[in-house]
Amino acid sequence: MSIHTPHLNVRPVRAFSDNYIWLIESPRAQGRLIAVDPGDAAPVMAELQRSGSSLAAILLTHHHPDHIGGVPELLRQGPVPVIGPDDTRIAQRTRTVYDGERCELSDLGLSFEILHVPGHTLSHIAFWGHGTLFCGDTLFSAGCGRMFEGTPKQMNASLNRLGELPPDTRMFCGHEYTAANLRFSLTVDPTNRAALEYQGNVERVRAQGNPSLPSTLGLERQVNPFLRCGDPTVVAAAETHAGESLKEPARVFGVLRAWKDQFRS
Ligand SMILES: [Zn+2]
Repeated sequence: MSIHTPHLNVRPVRAFSDNYIWLIESPRAQGRLIAVDPGDAAPVMAELQRSGSSLAAILLTHHHPDHIGGVPELLRQGPVPVIGPDDTRIAQRTRTVYDGERCELSDLGLSFEILHVPGHTLSHIAFWGHGTLFCGDTLFSAGCGRMFEGTPKQMNASLNRLGELPPDTRMFCGHEYTAANLRFSLTVDPTNRAALEYQGNVERVRAQGNPSLPSTLGLERQVNPFLRCGDPTVVAAAETHAGESLKEPARVFGVLRAWKDQFRS
């Protein structure tokens, strides 16, 4: 299947239990694909073969093995640019990109702005361009990544930055966690109509075996509690959970993230 956004076609490749490796079709060079976070080479190579396509570049958001583990094997098939953040844990990268930089793949007709979004890991980046956002494990639909290396303040700022991108931006994240995230979202804010409606839609597409993604940032701003740390309803729920008053949005975020870590739906 191919997901048609207004400006790019993107194919999901499933890996492990719930990862997505996104394959972006070059709008300029037919049959050339750019892999985002290929944690496993085998399903990518199978899709290349099935579609008669070739790999043109690899984009990496962060160093976790389920996002970069397939890179050595893919490079054994032939060298391609490997673009990722400044982190020695990503050994195969051929080009390092930094916050605010424009990552141009001009022969492929692609151009992404790099956003440094620390929190899940300290060097985590997102790729934003063509009305799409590839954000790895920072923002998930109706949720966010675990905070392995950053502070609540850092992660909250990173999420706010992503949330402020144009509302029609298609958000492609690294995992299919949407249904479980919505159960948490509706625990925090049980009468959220947008979240209730979205839950029904997600159940339908998942029952058909399709990804719940991409989401849009406009929808995320309504249904994702981690993008709503200043919203009175979310603040009140976090304060009740914590048993104290929370003045700063970053503290609200910290309480929500710790609550979600313990949450069993
Ligand atoms: Zn990760």
